[in-house]
Parts: sequence; C-alpha cells; structure tokens
Amino acid sequence: MLELKNIRKVYPTVGEESVALDNINLTFGESEFVSILGTSGSGKTTLLNIIGGLDKYTSGDLLVDGTSTKNFNDRDWDSYRNGTIGFVFQSYNLISHLSILDNVKMALSLSGISDKESVKRAKQALHEVGLEKHLTKRPNQLSGGQMQRVAIARALVNNPKILLADEPTGALDSKTSAQIMELIKEISKNRLVIMVTHNPELANQYSNRIIEVSDGLVVKDTSPYNVEHENLSGYKENKTSMSFITAIKSSLKNLLTKKTRTVMVTFAASIGIISVGLILAISSGMNSYIATMQEDVLANMPITISSSQPTQPVIKPPVENFGKEKELDESTLINKKESTEIHENRYSKDYLGKGYTFIDYLEDNASDYYSNIIFTNGYNLKVLTKNEAGNIQEIKNRQNNTSLLSEIPEDKELVLKQYDIISSKEKDFKYPTHSNELVLIIGKDNSLSEETLTALGYDSDSQINFTDLLGKKLKIIDNNSYYQENADGSHFSVKPITEDMFNTGKEIEIVAIMKPKKSSTSLISSDIAYSKSLSDEMLNKENTSEIVSAQKRNKQINILSPSNESIESNMYTSVMQQLGGDVTPTKISVYPNTFDEREKVLDVVTDYNNLVEDKFGIDSDDYKLYSIRYSDMATTMTDSMTTLIDAVTLILVAFAGISLVVSSIMIGILTYVSVVERTKEIGIMRALGARKKDITRIFIAESTIIGLFAGLIGVSVAMLSTIPMNNVIENAIGTGGFDTNLSPLYAGLLILLSIILTFIAGYIPSKMAARKNPVEALRTE
Ligand code: ADP
Ligand code: MG
Repeated sequence: MLELKNIRKVYPTVGEESVALDNINLTFGESEFVSILGTSGSGKTTLLNIIGGLDKYTSGDLLVDGTSTKNFNDRDWDSYRNGTIGFVFQSYNLISHLSILDNVKMALSLSGISDKESVKRAKQALHEVGLEKHLTKRPNQLSGGQMQRVAIARALVNNPKILLADEPTGALDSKTSAQIMELIKEISKNRLVIMVTHNPELANQYSNRIIEVSDGLVVKDTSPYNVEHENLSGYKENKTSMSFITAIKSSLKNLLTKKTRTVMVTFAASIGIISVGLILAISSGMNSYIATMQEDVLANMPITISSSQPTQPVIKPPVENFGKEKELDESTLINKKESTEIHENRYSKDYLGKGYTFIDYLEDNASDYYSNIIFTNGYNLKVLTKNEAGNIQEIKNRQNNTSLLSEIPEDKELVLKQYDIISSKEKDFKYPTHSNELVLIIGKDNSLSEETLTALGYDSDSQINFTDLLGKKLKIIDNNSYYQENADGSHFSVKPITEDMFNTGKEIEIVAIMKPKKSSTSLISSDIAYSKSLSDEMLNKENTSEIVSAQKRNKQINILSPSNESIESNMYTSVMQQLGGDVTPTKISVYPNTFDEREKVLDVVTDYNNLVEDKFGIDSDDYKLYSIRYSDMATTMTDSMTTLIDAVTLILVAFAGISLVVSSIMIGILTYVSVVERTKEIGIMRALGARKKDITRIFIAESTIIGLFAGLIGVSVAMLSTIPMNNVIENAIGTGGFDTNLSPLYAGLLILLSIILTFIAGYIPSKMAARKNPVEALRTE
C-alpha cells in the first residue's frame, strides 16, 4: 500500500548540504507493525515525516496505493495527512488550551465533519484508549501515558490506513511504555503501523518487521514486503475542508484561554473606534444644533431691508439751547454723513418704470416663501416718564441710537410663537391692541437693561420685582405739544420739558410682561412695545400737526435745523417719516417660512437688483441709489458657524484617524505575537491535515473577533459618553439642541470598520502562520 522508490532527502544548510536520507527503497503492506531502528540523527524522523507527507522528499517517489505523489499539491498532501495518516509523537503534541475531547475532535473538524458526529466519534476513540472518564480535562492534567493515549485516539479517530509513531514511548517509563505498545500492537491488526524507536527490545517484542537505518541509508530489513500479493486499488483522495465555524470556534477558545490579554487587546483596539464614534457623535450633535438653530432661531430672524443701511436716523432733532451745542449737533450730523456710507433703500416708488415698486415686486414674487412681512415706519414716539424722585424725563434713544420703544407686530400668532406673556395686569389679557397698552419685554433670565430701567424712571441699582412694573404709566407727546415754532417762524425746536407737558400727554400703561421663549429672537427690537393702534392714532394726528405742515410747505429746508440748510429730497423724506408726516416704511422685515426659503426670498431681492442693473448699469449712481440692500444675520451666522465647525471636524477626524491607525497596528502586532506563540499548534494542525487556508482562517478569525468586540465596545462607550457629554455641553452653552448622538447606521458602520481594519491587520501575520513549515513548527517549543 506504500512504496518508497529511491527516496532522497537533502536539507539545504549553510555551506554544504546535508543528506538526511539517500536511496531509500521500501514497500509496506496493509497491516504490518514495522519498527524503524537507528541511532539518533540517522534519519528516522525524516523518513517518517516523508512517509506522512509532513516533509517533502527531494527526489525519488512515494506511491500510495500505487498512486505516485510526485504531482501532489499542497491540498493533496493536506488531505493525505488528514485522511490516510495518523501521527503519534514522542512529545504527544497535544494542544494545551483544549480539552482532550476537543484535541481528538480537532482531526475530525479539519475534515469538515459535523460537530455532533465529531463529538460522538471522538468520545468513541477516547473510550477505545480507556480515557472516557477524562473527556473535559486539559492535557496538563493527565499523566504521560494518558497523554499519549489521547494522541493515539486523535491519530485514529479519522480511521486512517497508516499510523505513524515517532518514538511514542520515548518519554514514558517502562511499565507505561508496555501498555502503549500493547495498544499500538492492537491497532496494527487492521492497519499499517510504522513506529520509530531507538529501543531494539521494544521493536523485537512487538513489531513483526524491523528496518534499521543508519546515516540516511536502510541497512537492514527483517521481512521486506512482497508487492506481488497486493492488489492495488489506487489512492482515493478525500479532500479536507474545515468549516469557517470551526475556525471561529478554535479562535474563540484560544482567546478565552488568554482572557486578560484578550480583554486588554480588545480594549486597546476599541480606542480608535471610540474616538471615531465620539467624533461622529459630536459632529452629528453640531449638525443637529445648527439645524435647530436654523429652525428655531435663525428662521425667526428676519431679512431686514431698511431705508438706510446701516440703520441710523439721519437727523437728530436739535435741542433748543446754547449756540455752542447747536454747532456741535450739526458737526455730529456732518461727521456721520461722512463716516458711514449710507445706502438709502428706495422701495416705495416705481423707479424701474414698470408699474410696480420694490415692495410690490417682493410681495408678488416672494410671498410664498415668507410667513410674515412687517413694515416699520420711521415715526419717533416722544415719550415722557416720571421717575422715583418725581422728576419728568424724556425717554431718549439707546446708546446705539435705536429706539427704546417699538411697535409690536400686529400678528399675534407670530409673536406668541416666540414670546410668552408671563404676567399681566388684567387676568384675561391676550395681546396689546388698544392704543394705551404697553408690554414690557424682559430677558430670558428675567433681566431688563439698565437703559430701560433708567428710562422708566428707576434707579438702576434698585431691585425691582417685575410685577411692580405692571401699571407703570408713560406719556406720549404729540408734535404740537413737543415742538414750537421759532419767533421768526424759520424753524421749529423742542419745547422745554415741563410738568404741564407731561400732564397733557396721552397716557399709556404697561399692562403685561412678555418673555422670549428662546434666548435670541428679534421680532420685537426693543424692551417696551406698543400696539399698532397707538401708531395709527398718533400718525393720524401728526399728519396735520403744525411742524409737519410747515415742513410740507418748505421742502427745501430742514424744518428742525436752525441754519435752514437746504436738504436733498431723501433727507426730506426721512425728516417727514420721523415727524409722522410720511408713513412709507423705513424698514421691511421679512420672516421666511423655513431656512431654505430664506434663500428664495433673497433670490427675489437679487432678481430685483438685476432689473435695476439692467436699467441703469451697475456702475451708475442710480444703481447705487435704487438697488436694494439688506442685512441677513442668519446667513452670516450660519456661514461663520459652518466654517468653524468644518475646521473643528477636520482636526477631530485627523486625531481619530491617527488613533485608528495606531490601534490597527497594535492588532497586527498582537496577532503576530499570537502566531509566534502558537507555532507549535500550527504544526500540530498541519500534521492533522489542516490546510494553509485553515490556519489563515483561524488567525484572521481571531483578529476579526477582537475587531468585532473592539467595535462593539467602542460603539457602546461612544454612545454612553454622549450622555455626560450632552450634559456638559448643555450646561456650557446654556441651551439644548446640541444633541451628540451616534446613529445606529454609523454605529453599525463603525463595527464593520473595526472588523475590516482588524481583518487587514491580522492578514499578514495569518499568512505568515500558514506558510510555516509544519515540521519546523512542530519542532518549536
Ligand atoms: P533521527 O530522527 O533519526 O534522530 P532526523 O531524521 O531527525 O534523525 O535527522 C536526520 C539528519 O537530518 C540529522 O543529521 C539532522 O541533523 C538532519 N536534519 C533534520 N532536520 C533538518 C533540518 N530541518 N535542516 C537541516 N538538517 C536537518
Ligand atoms: Mg527523531
């Protein structure tokens, strides 16, 4: 059944090559018990390894059942070892971290036999060698003789035709040796057993044929096998194939025996995933924050088109006083005109000659994109207040020249979406509608600016309960009571503020206190707001006031300027608007429906400007005069925020990338260490018929399992950290909406990434493991 023809084995060594076997011609039958005797180094092991397909002969031929092995490829040799050969070694070569049952099962698993069947057959084999009571023990819990029995059971479990034993009793005492020899002799009844020994007594006692080897040559053969009686059936190959599940199980078992290390490696590997996970969570948080901002805050910010940009009253009414101060006022006025480029938006006339004004154009083309459009007129309310000491004072503009009082938009729903009425004088108060009703708007933290408090007549140091402010009364003074014509009738000036003026004013009263729902909202631009009916009432009155009539009569001069300087038409409009003689809007606030539709509104404005450009040319003064400029805080804010976030994300991603690379390299190194540690095991598995592919699989499975767990740990840690992180961020920025969160999709992708990376990292060491020469691998300790 086995025929060695002129076998020669040469080991390439440094300098000259060493010939381990030469001119070996041997034939073996179906059931023989052959002993190979020889001194140490004579070539016995080499001969056995060549017969067993562990080592390859340099020249000659080995025939199995009459089939030449000259053209065997790796797979053929693997299945030959697995199906035809059973190995028993002097040093047992059991896998220490597997139970003896698993050790025996290994040979079956490698040939792809089902788990259930493998267990059954392994138990049977162990029973046959008398070890049925020790199935779950580890090899190191057994005696030498018992270990060798396990090795024999493993060699026989596949029912091989040939059992090869390399000094099976070399490490055993004589009594145990005898038992093992009996066992082997029993086995040889229906198979070919070739046993290497240097003990001639054992050979003589048990075997029925002795071959002596010396210096690589066969020097004696007691009963050469006669080929003629044999009827050779030809070698039947049974391809081995270990299932992937077996590879994974094997890796898992190995990982479990080295728990501490596995845990540490997995955790280290997860660091990269944690950092990427955190970064994804943070960037999703930033994006959701921006989205919330866009929805809640930015969308509520209007696109503002004012008659002059930047917003500034063109004229301050001079106060009747000493000449010196008058001059100062005028110079301030001139300075302002020079220092700030004021663009006058003109939108209430048909400058294009097409039958529509800018306002018409906007309303016709953009009305689908905004929920509200609020027109503000330029009328300046003149308000008096009595302070705590009983003195009358006028409420002046704020430092930044904006009014302390403004009109509350008529659209109740729009306003109440953003503001809460937190307190009111009358219980059933709904919204300021009467001309004598004022609402006070306080900050989200119940604050009120010093300017407003002072204007209302309170000492800025005093602690005020805001309900005290309910019922606070102010007086509105109309033009006729406020201005007086000069003696020469050339211009008007402000009357001195008196108790009398206060008493005759129109009484208005704070009837409610409102508070914004979000920290930034710009629907009401001042701390005190009055209803539209008040403006309507006042504008109606002022239209016929003396000063307005006087200004109308003389359009060339500024009625408020003592110098009677001549003014341009736009300044005339501006003065008239402030005095209430011209109700055309000075400001248009457009509230887009959504953040995206904001763009569409702006497109409409741009389209209008293109029409102006077409008509007048872009470099013309008319273009500068009639094109519309607007301010859009929301877009500016988003743009700068996006730029910042992009930069931050980039830096974070770089960090995460580095940690990913580092942890991948770590996995690679650790898989390599594992390969080195398990070299012996690799040798055993190869001897049992494992394909190179199987070895690769086991190690790849090992690193991939680490990758899977590293991914799971990384994702879990990242997900858990979002909880404290959200708390910290919420405390830091004071609002919610920054919701760091790792989406399930990203979590899944990260686990996949972890697996892929560890797969790649484990690939090279695994290939290395598979390339190991089985004979050398077996020789390592
Ligand atoms: P035995 O088993 O009879 O003690 P071996 O078969 O192990 O002897 O070795 C036979 C000869 O081949 C020895 O001289 C040994 O040094 C040599 N040899 C065995 N394996 C190798 C190898 N991998 N490389 C070089 N020489 C080897
Ligand atoms: Mg040897």
